[in-house]
Amino acid sequence: MKKLKSDAELFLESIYGERAEEYLIIINSMINYVKERILNKRNEFDSNSPISKDYIYDTLKFGFNSIPYNKEYGGFELPYIIYIIGMEVLAYGSPALANILWASNSVIDGLHYFGSNLQKEYYLKPLLKGDKIAAIAMTEPTGGSLIEYIKTKAEKKGDQYIISGKKVFITNAPIADIFLVFANTSNGITAFIIPSNVEGLKIDKPIRKLGLRGAVFSEVSLDNVVVPIENRLGEEGEGINIARHIFIGGRIIAAAIALGIGDAVLDQVYQYAISRELGNHKLIDFQILKEKIANSETILQAGKIYTYYVAYLMDKMLRQELNELASISKLFTTEGVLNISNEAISIFGGYGYTDDLNIHMYWRDVKGLTITEGTSDIQRLIIQHELKKRM
Ligand SMILES: Cc1cc2nc3c(=O)[nH]c(=O)nc-3n(C[C@H](O)[C@H](O)[C@H](O)COP(=O)(O)OP(=O)(O)OC[C@H]3O[C@@H](n4cnc5c(N)ncnc54)[C@H](O)[C@@H]3O)c2cc1C
Repeated sequence: MKKLKSDAELFLESIYGERAEEYLIIINSMINYVKERILNKRNEFDSNSPISKDYIYDTLKFGFNSIPYNKEYGGFELPYIIYIIGMEVLAYGSPALANILWASNSVIDGLHYFGSNLQKEYYLKPLLKGDKIAAIAMTEPTGGSLIEYIKTKAEKKGDQYIISGKKVFITNAPIADIFLVFANTSNGITAFIIPSNVEGLKIDKPIRKLGLRGAVFSEVSLDNVVVPIENRLGEEGEGINIARHIFIGGRIIAAAIALGIGDAVLDQVYQYAISRELGNHKLIDFQILKEKIANSETILQAGKIYTYYVAYLMDKMLRQELNELASISKLFTTEGVLNISNEAISIFGGYGYTDDLNIHMYWRDVKGLTITEGTSDIQRLIIQHELKKRM
């Protein structure tokens, strides 16, 4: 993780000057945590069963998910970029574990900005403390790209809502304590906080999938779930705004996880290239190999500088002003690292195709990042839409 660290150092020192030192100490401690506790679990966390809750709670309690949030609720009030580099570090160790924290963060982020005092007390604080895990339930079997068409219904009856519908691909659903569910009311899409133990909420068994395997997802059904009005997040009809707010942060997190995957792939490719002997040569001696490594590093560096920059702006600008930049960050970085990890399989030759080496895990994992939180084509639509406003 030497290069990851020096890349972060260079950026933070150029932005924060002397103040960077205190941030680098934090990043160092995150790197050490991942080296000591996560790296040797990387392959184990790539199985189709959930990562043990002990590991998740331990990582949450270490503070990976609390970095940018107010101290009042249990956060550290550090720059958003430190959080993003932390997610990159964690993804280097295990992309699946980083994915679990990201899904939980979506709910933390929504509660932090839109929650009432009561909601912050009951739901945000335990999440930031690392005592609870959360899931965000938006996608439905009839489509996830266009959240305006959500079919799950929330009917208001007195000071309660009765919610019925079906959600799919919900990361953390089998292990979550708290759900943030998006449903349609007579006034439009609205977000609701629902504890996992309420009557009528059914979590299906995990769906087997290509990558990010230890971060299980499943279907969630709501059958006349009764939700008190105090558990509505924001106003009726504010759901789309809340979702957009969460997604802008989420897209930068997706980019950070992709960067962590890219860092891990490049480290492994480089080590293999300098050690693999072919006749009288080392693999690295071949000019084409040097070129491939240089191309991968170019994509990775461009993705890093851009993503770090957008993360830095998260503390400087209004979130909605970062819509286009967050989409560019996700699109460029996830698709770029998909290419890097695809190339890595080829560089490892036959070994790259084996489960023993499991180099294909990175390709499988990053593919998921090009779909979740808006597919690459949806990112292209957002970028084009925002660009049009400035032309
Ligand atoms: C690893 C992973 C984790 C996930 N975790 C969660 C989670 O925690 N919570 C959650 O709610 N969801 C989650 N999802 C679901 C994810 O957000 C959706 O799969 C994604 O938004 C796409 O929705 P869809 O699968 O319904 O595809 P669809 O919306 O049916 O799209 C199918 C295809 O059509 C394209 N398309 C759609 N609309 C347009 C358009 N207007 N113009 C051009 N092309 C279009 C898409 O790009 C895509 O290629 C997860 C998915 C994955 C893979």
